Amino acid sequence: MRILLVEDERNISTYVKRGLEEQGYAVDAAYTGREALDWVDSVSFDIIVLDILLPELDGLSVCRELRKRGNRTVILMLTARDSVDDRVTGLDAGADDYLVKPFAIKELLARLRALSRRSAEMPKTSVLRVANLSLDLASHRVTRDGRPIELPAKEFSILEYFMRNAGRVLTRTMITEQIWNYDSFNQSNVVDVYIRNLRRKIDDAFEPKLLRTLRGVGYRLSVEDEN
Ligand code: CA
Repeated sequence: MRILLVEDERNISTYVKRGLEEQGYAVDAAYTGREALDWVDSVSFDIIVLDILLPELDGLSVCRELRKRGNRTVILMLTARDSVDDRVTGLDAGADDYLVKPFAIKELLARLRALSRRSAEMPKTSVLRVANLSLDLASHRVTRDGRPIELPAKEFSILEYFMRNAGRVLTRTMITEQIWNYDSFNQSNVVDVYIRNLRRKIDDAFEPKLLRTLRGVGYRLSVEDEN
């Protein structure tokens, strides 16, 4: 899941970004309304967490602008006061939900989970399957051949990305951009390390082997036997 966090208060932004990343979300931070629109022009996000009070262009204007352009990305609005007016204005501007500041990270995570279930890009079912490997998005559980596999948040996110794109070749760049973000990361060998760990857990003790390396190209999760 890729999230754009739009918040001008640096300490809040840093704190929230870290909290979300710990749960396996890929987070990019924008600090003004204009920056947010620039990001959305070039990257496709699953959810935008949008503060109302921003310099240059406020969150409501950003929201209206995105909807006017036909952008349907799920938007969670952050409001400073719990006034009915603020909430209604946010929803009227096209936001999907709102959260009143200050909030606990737990609360934000719960809201994001609910919103991602509603997101049109999510499959109808919460369980992704490739051969005898299954990944449950709701319970965050992975099993192979019915046996549970423990995965840390990042490895879970990588596997989710592979399973959503089963049969497709994913390059290191695609994986990096999906799971991390542009500003913090550009060492492709780190992707290799994560994939190696993931493969050890999901493939080593099982048949058929699913996660393939295509030398010089990237990786593919598939059931075909052609490697
Ligand atoms: Ca703000």
